[in-house]
Amino acid sequence: MSHDTLIDDDLYRQIILDHYSNPRCHCRLENPTLTAEGNNPTCGDEIELDLQVEGGIIKDVGFVGDGCSISVASSSMLAEMIKGKTVNEAVKLAKTFKARLLSHSATASEAEETFEDVDIGELEALDGVKDYPVRIKCALLGWETLLSALNQTPNSAKEG
Ligand code: ZN
Repeated sequence: MSHDTLIDDDLYRQIILDHYSNPRCHCRLENPTLTAEGNNPTCGDEIELDLQVEGGIIKDVGFVGDGCSISVASSSMLAEMIKGKTVNEAVKLAKTFKARLLSHSATASEAEETFEDVDIGELEALDGVKDYPVRIKCALLGWETLLSALNQTPNSAKEG
């Protein structure tokens, strides 16, 4: 088993570095229906997230972020994974990922609901942060920002 773990660690590091050096959807959207900002003062990570949601589907995603490799890689994975998903699917993914990272440290009341049918995909690469509370905040920054964006009233509804 230790041999497999070494391979996984190396693979995970490569996935994180790849997303950090080449973040997906790294731009602002021209006409986002939802926008949210998040920051993680403990590490200095910042993110601005734009979503274009139509008919309950996340049609487009853009983010600009400044921060450590964990926060940028996690936000890049987020952008890639939620694009084309329904709002409901994106919320389930965010909650499942949160619960996964907080499973060691969170009290029962803080733990998020998990969904058995959710595939966390490349997010598995961030499992290593579980034991480091500060890094957990880095990994969750984009996802917390996503949840706050999806809780807002869409821009179009505010204007109309
Ligand atoms: Zn960070």
